[in-house]
Amino acid sequence: MPIFEYQCDHCKKEFERLVFAGEECDIQCPGCKSSEVTKKMSATSFMGTSIGTCAADAPKQFS
Ligand SMILES: [Zn+2]
Repeated sequence: MPIFEYQCDHCKKEFERLVFAGEECDIQCPGCKSSEVTKKMSATSFMGTSIGTCAADAPKQFS
């Protein structure tokens, strides 16, 4: 199971989360509960992205 490293954009706290498919938009900082966290390069080669942009990445078929 993928464990990713994150850093909170708000309080700069670093933490690890076990992330299942589809849950990436639900990551919150354990310190300040901010959802503005950045995924860091970790177990996978997936490019680091800001979790805060998840919604913007979704298909906008109804816009
Ligand atoms: Zn935080």
